[in-house]
Amino acid sequence: MRDLICDEFQNTVSELLIRHHSILDVLSKLQETCARTNRATVKAVTGCGCLSIEAKKKQIPPDLSITDLKDYFESHLRGELCDNCREIIETEIGKTLFYLTALCNLLDLNLYDIFLKEHKKITTLRVFNFT
Ligand SMILES: [Zn+2]
Repeated sequence: MRDLICDEFQNTVSELLIRHHSILDVLSKLQETCARTNRATVKAVTGCGCLSIEAKKKQIPPDLSITDLKDYFESHLRGELCDNCREIIETEIGKTLFYLTALCNLLDLNLYDIFLKEHKKITTLRVFNFT
């Protein structure tokens, strides 16, 4: 069974993909949108200030079990995205999804099948999935 929204999105991307039909264009645009997403996240810290980052090396206790690691580590983020930064980052992630889907189209891959495969993998491996 396929997911209708996911398949419809993939079909729409296929219809709109006129200008960037070359694999070279799609690969470079995908990389660019990933970089723009990262940049927008950094700007939430350095430009807006709604987020801050507080990070330092953690000393991991030697007797800590692998299942306790999840509770031990943190994101290093402080604060919350403001509405403006949230909108910008969501837009960039949307563009990333567009070009990721375009890559799937050019390689004749179904995005939803990939979601399912990855979901099955991470639910099977659980905490042992360190990719
Ligand atoms: Zn902000």
